[in-house]
Amino acid sequence: MDNFLSSNLIALKTTVERVVENDITPFAEQVDREGAWPAHSMKALAAAGLLGLQVPTQLGGHGQGLFALSLVTEAIGKACPSSALCFGMHCVGTAVIAAKATTDQQDRYLRAIADGKHITTLALSESGTGAHFYLPQTRLTLEGRHYVVEGTKQFVTNGGHADSYVVSTVASTDTAEAGDFSCLIVDRDSEGIEWLEPWNGFGMRGNSSRGLRFNQARVPQANLLGKEGDQVWYVFEVIAPFFLMAMAGTYLGIAQAAVDAAGEHLRARSFTHSGESLRDIETLQTRFAEMWISVEKTRSLIHEAARRGDMGHPDALPFILACKADAGDTAVHLANDAMTICGGTAYRENSRVSQLLRDARASHVMSPTTDMLKIWTGRSLLGLPLL
Ligand SMILES: Cc1cc2nc3c(=O)[nH]c(=O)nc-3n(C[C@H](O)[C@H](O)[C@H](O)COP(=O)(O)OP(=O)(O)OC[C@H]3O[C@@H](n4cnc5c(N)ncnc54)[C@H](O)[C@@H]3O)c2cc1C
Repeated sequence: MDNFLSSNLIALKTTVERVVENDITPFAEQVDREGAWPAHSMKALAAAGLLGLQVPTQLGGHGQGLFALSLVTEAIGKACPSSALCFGMHCVGTAVIAAKATTDQQDRYLRAIADGKHITTLALSESGTGAHFYLPQTRLTLEGRHYVVEGTKQFVTNGGHADSYVVSTVASTDTAEAGDFSCLIVDRDSEGIEWLEPWNGFGMRGNSSRGLRFNQARVPQANLLGKEGDQVWYVFEVIAPFFLMAMAGTYLGIAQAAVDAAGEHLRARSFTHSGESLRDIETLQTRFAEMWISVEKTRSLIHEAARRGDMGHPDALPFILACKADAGDTAVHLANDAMTICGGTAYRENSRVSQLLRDARASHVMSPTTDMLKIWTGRSLLGLPLL
C-alpha cells in the first residue's frame, strides 16, 4: 500500500509504527488489565511530534487531514485500542479548535499542541440526550468577559488527563433552540469544574471516560470557538469527519489485529495425533480468507472516504458516514471469528483476542452509533437531510 502514499504520509506512517513498536505495544496488555489511562503512549506520540497531526503547518503542526488520521489511528489501534481512542479524540478536539481559531487561540492552544505540550479532547455527550450528541443541554451565560457554564457531560475520553476540553453548550442567545449550540475550550484548571466517578468499561478500558460537572464554571469569553450558535456547522464539517475517521482507523486496527492473531494461531497450532496443522484444514483456510477479504474491503472504504473528504469531493458524505459503521461491524465480526479460530486458548478472561472483542464492541455504542450512521448514510444517499 505504501507505493500509493505521498512521501509525507510514508514518513508519518514510519514514525507512528516505530512509536507503536517501542512504546505502545509493550504496555497494551497492562493498559487493559489495569484500566489505566495510557500516559506512556501520549508521551511517546508527543515526543515523536504526532500530537500536532491536525495543527496547520504555519503553526508548527503537520497540517494533515483525514487520510493521515486514518493511517495513524489504525497503526495505534492494532496494538492498543485505548491509546488509539485517546489519541483520536485529541486529534478531533484539535481539528475543532483549528477550524476557526482566533490568533489568541492559535497561540495558546495550537502551538502548544504542535510542540507536544498540550492534550485536548471532546466533551459533547450528556446523559439526557445520550447518543444525540448534537443536542447539548449544558447552559452558558455571559457575565462580563466570562461565560458561566452549568451542566454535566458524560463519557469524556481523556477525562482528568487532558489539558483542555472542547465542550458543547446551548447558545446563550435568547432565541436559541435545541441544536443551536456553542463550543468552548475549557482549561483543566478552570474554576467550578468537578470530575465524577471514573468509568469502569467493558472494553476500551484505558480511555479514562468520565463524567464532568460544570458548577457555574467560569470560562473566558475568548475561549468561544467560532460564533455563538454556529456549531451545527462544526458538527457536520469538522467533528463528524474527523471523529468518524479517527474511530474508523481505530476499529480497522482492531480488525487487522484479529486477522493477525488468527493467522499466527493457524500457522503455529498442530495436532500431536496426526501432525496436521490447523492451516491445512480447508474450512479454516476459507474462514481465514473471508477474514482477510473483509478487512481489506473495510480498509478500501475508509481510504476512499478519507481521500474524498480531504479533496472536498461533493459525494464524500455517505462514504465518511459509512466507513465508521463498517469498521465497527468488521472489527466485531473479525474479533469474534479470531476467537473461534484460536479456540479455547483465546476464550479465556483477558486473552489478547478477548480484549480485541471487548474493545471492538465500543464501536456500536459510541455516537454517532452504528445504527445512527446507517440511517444517516441511507438518508444522504436518498437526498434527505440527515436529521
Ligand atoms: C468508550 C467510550 C468513549 C466515549 N468517549 C466520548 C467522548 O470522548 N466524548 C463524548 O462526548 N462522548 C463520548 N462517549 C459517549 C458516546 O459517544 C455516546 O454518547 C454514548 O455512549 C451514548 O450512550 P447512551 O447510553 O446515553 O446511549 P442512548 O442514547 O441511550 O442510546 C442507546 C442506543 O439507542 C440507539 N438510538 C438512540 N436514538 C436512536 C435513533 N434516533 N435512531 C437509531 N438508534 C438510536 C443508539 O444508537 C444506541 O445504540 C463515549 C462512549 C464510550 C462507550
